[in-house]
Amino acid sequence: MLKLQNTYKTYKNGDELLHALHDVTLEFHQGDFAFLLGESGSGKSTLLNVLSGLDVPSKGSVFIEGTDTRTFSKKDYATFRNNHVGFIFQEYNLIDHLSVLDNVTLPLLFQGVDKKEAKERARNELEKIGLKKHVAKKPQQLSGGQQQRVAIARALVTNPKIILADEPTGSLDEAMGEKTIAYLKKHAQDKVVIVVTHNEELAEKFANRTIRIQDGKILDDSKEETNETASVDEKTLNINPPKVPLGILFKFAKNNVFSRIFRTFLTSAIVAIGFVAILLLTFIVLGIRGSLSDAVASLIPPDEYQLHPIEDTFIDSDTFNRVRDHEHVEDLRYNIRLNIPSRYRTLAENTHELTYLAVPFDPFAFERDGTLHGRLPENENEVVISLRTALSLREMDMVDEESYGYVFDLVEGYDIRADHLNSDFSESKRFTIVGMSEETQPQNVYLSYDALLKLAEQRLDEKEYKTSAIAYLSTSDDGDIDALRRDLRDDEGLVLRNVFGEITTQIDDVMFTALQWFVGISLISLVVAGILIGLVIYTSVLERVREIGILTALGARGSNIRGIFLIESGIGGLLSGTIAAVAAVFIALGLNRLFNNFIEAPLNLLTGGNLDITLLDVSIPAIALVLVAGVLYAMLSGWIPSKHATKLNAVSALRKE
Ligand code: ADP
Ligand code: MG
Repeated sequence: MLKLQNTYKTYKNGDELLHALHDVTLEFHQGDFAFLLGESGSGKSTLLNVLSGLDVPSKGSVFIEGTDTRTFSKKDYATFRNNHVGFIFQEYNLIDHLSVLDNVTLPLLFQGVDKKEAKERARNELEKIGLKKHVAKKPQQLSGGQQQRVAIARALVTNPKIILADEPTGSLDEAMGEKTIAYLKKHAQDKVVIVVTHNEELAEKFANRTIRIQDGKILDDSKEETNETASVDEKTLNINPPKVPLGILFKFAKNNVFSRIFRTFLTSAIVAIGFVAILLLTFIVLGIRGSLSDAVASLIPPDEYQLHPIEDTFIDSDTFNRVRDHEHVEDLRYNIRLNIPSRYRTLAENTHELTYLAVPFDPFAFERDGTLHGRLPENENEVVISLRTALSLREMDMVDEESYGYVFDLVEGYDIRADHLNSDFSESKRFTIVGMSEETQPQNVYLSYDALLKLAEQRLDEKEYKTSAIAYLSTSDDGDIDALRRDLRDDEGLVLRNVFGEITTQIDDVMFTALQWFVGISLISLVVAGILIGLVIYTSVLERVREIGILTALGARGSNIRGIFLIESGIGGLLSGTIAAVAAVFIALGLNRLFNNFIEAPLNLLTGGNLDITLLDVSIPAIALVLVAGVLYAMLSGWIPSKHATKLNAVSALRKE
């Protein structure tokens, strides 16, 4: 079932060629309990390694169940080892950070056996070999003989067809060695067992076949070569690779991390610096954006939409009414500025051009204390005028509280010059001054909205005045608003604008550009961080060379081994992201506090204002993004060294130093 055919393994030693195996042809069958004897350096280990596919022959071939293994991929060989080969080494090669039970469970997990069942089988195997009491211990807590028994349990637990033991008694005393071989023989009746040893007595006592090797050549084989061709029985050779559960890879990665916790923490902290920078910059950009938007919102009502005619200067009342009835329009108001040449009785009977505005649409003219004396107009015949206008009114030589309630006679008209001197006051509108403003625009006259509308209605159809409208919409759905915007443009010739939205979009654009630049600059530190992660994982790989060799011998595939180191990278990335998030939140809260205590509060005290700025906006989505990005970035950085781990030569990794 196992056959070497004219096999060579050749090493280049400078200019000389060294044949570790020289034209070896051997065949092993079920029931063989073969001892391979030879001096140190004669090629015994090489022979075992070539048989198991841990090493590839330079020339010739290995047949397993009649299948030429030159057709095997690395993965096929891994599965073959996992399912059909049990290894026992001189130096036990147990995995130190796993318990005895987990060590024995491992090959079953690589076979895809259910975890619970695997543990049960491993426990039985350990019980058979008398180690029931020690299953929870770490290998280092056991004696050499006990460790070797664990290794035997691990080799037998998958019930493989082939057992390869490379000097299994080399580290044991004579009695222990004998016991070990006796046990092996008892439990491997129907297998191919090849034991490498120096010990001739052992061979005499247990072997049913003895092979001697020297300088890579077979000197002597107690069993005659059968010339029959190997029976081709490929069906018994199962090399369908199972799925290795992620949990076991995770356990290795976790143990790697915890065995070097200080180093992991230190490098994660260094890597975190770049993430902290990115987070703080994001927080500050978001903070400034939020504060700016709030400031804009206090000046421009966010829910107000403005309607402007595209060509006309004027929205006529039919259009106005149609728009007001649109399903998405909740309320529509004329926003009117009427510039009407008006005459009022001044000492010189002068005419002035006054601008009539509705109070609700320019409320900030009165916002600051002291700018409005009196009150806002409520009735249709009430106005607020500027102090300057008031001062020029005839018969009003002083302005004080007594002036309120003064009747403000006003003539409106277009051709003010025509009736300049003979004004007929019967056509005039009479307004009562209820307030005076200290405005910088003395021509402004404030009316109630209804009064202004009435005044305007007489003039709307004459298209003399610029009007726009303010709309309040019944929907906040972007699609609806776009549809409304299109309708208004195509059907009515009107532009619908949300000034608040336009400004905040602009703020967002600027802030996003700033953020991109900031993040771009921080990326430089991330590149350095990536190299650091790569180096740390590379170091971890080098430290785990022996472990990688053991896993390979047990049948772990390249992808499994890469998985371990990728997960290790990911854990590091998660740690960096977490450190960065915690640090950034603390720094942000601190800076906000400093800003509020030392800048905002004194500023408010000085100006009597009530600024409320959050300088850094601690954004949970940004933190989540950094955590995810940290894990992915670390895994990307660990990719190359992880791949390197799969290329390590298991043979040299396992070679006794
Ligand atoms: P044994 O197990 O019988 O002691 P090995 O199979 O380990 O012997 O080695 C056989 C010969 O091949 C030795 O001379 C050894 O030095 C040589 N050899 C083994 N591996 C290598 C290698 N990777 N490079 C060069 N020479 C090697
Ligand atoms: Mg050897």
